[in-house]
Amino acid sequence: MTDADTPGRADRPQYEAVIVGAGFGGMGAAIALQRLGIDDVLILEREDDLGGTWHVNHYPGLAVDIASVTYSFSFEPNPYWSRLFAPGAELKKYAEHVADKYHLRSQMRFGQVVEGARWDEDGRCWSVAIRGGQAVTARYLLTATGFLSQPQMPAIDGIEEFAGTVLHTTAWDDDVDLRGRRVGIIGTGATAVQLVPELADTASALTVYQRTPIWVVPKVDFPIPRPVQRLFARVPLTQKAARLANTALLEAMMVSAVLHYRQSRFLNAGAALLAKGHLRRQVRDSDLRRKLTPAYDFGCKRPTFSNHYFRAFTRPNVELETESIARIDADGIVTADGRRTDIDTLVLATGFNLWDVNFPAIEVIGRGGRNLGAWWRDNRFQAYEGVSVPRFPNFLTLSSPYSYSGLSYFTTIEAQMKHLTRLFRGMRDAGADTFEVTERANAEFLDQVTRLLGDSVFYRGSCDGSRSYYFNQHGEAAILRPTSTANALWEAGRFPLQDYAFRASPVPAAS
Ligand code: NAP
Repeated sequence: MTDADTPGRADRPQYEAVIVGAGFGGMGAAIALQRLGIDDVLILEREDDLGGTWHVNHYPGLAVDIASVTYSFSFEPNPYWSRLFAPGAELKKYAEHVADKYHLRSQMRFGQVVEGARWDEDGRCWSVAIRGGQAVTARYLLTATGFLSQPQMPAIDGIEEFAGTVLHTTAWDDDVDLRGRRVGIIGTGATAVQLVPELADTASALTVYQRTPIWVVPKVDFPIPRPVQRLFARVPLTQKAARLANTALLEAMMVSAVLHYRQSRFLNAGAALLAKGHLRRQVRDSDLRRKLTPAYDFGCKRPTFSNHYFRAFTRPNVELETESIARIDADGIVTADGRRTDIDTLVLATGFNLWDVNFPAIEVIGRGGRNLGAWWRDNRFQAYEGVSVPRFPNFLTLSSPYSYSGLSYFTTIEAQMKHLTRLFRGMRDAGADTFEVTERANAEFLDQVTRLLGDSVFYRGSCDGSRSYYFNQHGEAAILRPTSTANALWEAGRFPLQDYAFRASPVPAAS
């Protein structure tokens, strides 16, 4: 993209803010801007509807794996979740409700693939390039492109020769009837943990290709009775209390067993014992149990919850295959030991590529031509408080290194909304409209998270062989913010405003 493609360069930017992504992260950012009186916002979304993950994913068995009282905006509780862990379709509906209630649909444009954004120092604005369309300009750019949004296709010999049906979990075809089919599924991550029991119920034969086993703990799930839903609706404080209790539980699990592994290794070992007991109760065959037991510490990979996953492997129509895949041909999968399994349907539960293509998901060029993706790769992945980067003025990157706080994504979003609010208020109070985080503040934050992560299971525990997406290509666990969520929220409301440099633009702000 060149400056010549940018319309209105000498004028006021076309929008106050462009947000990339119409999932919960993008909607949270739009609501925060709205509360600041900034409504001149364009939300660009590559999919054909809103909801992010919850629009894209609709494979059988999809459900939230963080209790819904917690996995939702604290300021927009939904008293009517049908279960403690709501099915995926309810999350999609909830996203639609949020968009309607906060009048966000009119700001959204779907089917818009953002290719890149470049900071225009003269115009003090961002120029955002859209595939097949005109670039747009905005004073502020916020990317909310998600952490798990670039599907990973496995590079397996012959895969393109497969003649049957291929389904990646992010592109599920609801019209495909799997009854009577011979299905092979590759992958045993959190998605497969939800999908395998469903496939076991429908397919005539199911072979699960496992490269790395996953820790699975019991899921305490049940329908929320109508009277309780009515109580949540009439007395919102009761749902708040339920949220608080569940959030505290998740927090204890995350902070003690994962982040403070050095101090409370026994809690981590306790979680592993819980998962092993769960497996023992569901699978009597010791050889099968051995194959399903991870050799790395609990928490190296995101923990999963299921009451049906292990049991599925005890069904006569289900096989667990732990030999590595050598190749795929027109109608089967051949393992390294030469065995071949006939299949007519190939399911790819192979997850997402985070570190090569997602950080950042689009090309972002800042001040002095700094390319964010190249800079992160050459100088460690980093973002001050998980939201801003030096030399990228008026830019908030919401799906960033060290930004993910706790287990529920909504904690991250709400902390970022708080950060954004304090930042914009501080900037306005200074009579400015341009912000940029200082090199010093960014370096100090990176030092702090690096030090804190030294206590975590990622560095103190045994994560070799976990093949966890928490780790990047340099072996750094650079996604999670290694503090409590309470700390993340506290910092978001109190970070020193001197951590940012503010400037007034020669072009007057619109609001
Ligand atoms: P994932 O955790 O990255 O798992 C991908 C799986 O595919 C792994 O078992 C991986 O094996 C396997 N795989 C990838 N490439 C392969 C290859 N070439 N050959 C053999 N196996 C291969 O992805 P995911 O299961 O989609 O889950 C991603 C995240 O989504 C979760 O951690 C969770 O945060 C989120 N999620 C959330 C929910 C929810 O309800 N909220 C539900 C589902 C997912 P290796 O481990 O050996 O690499």
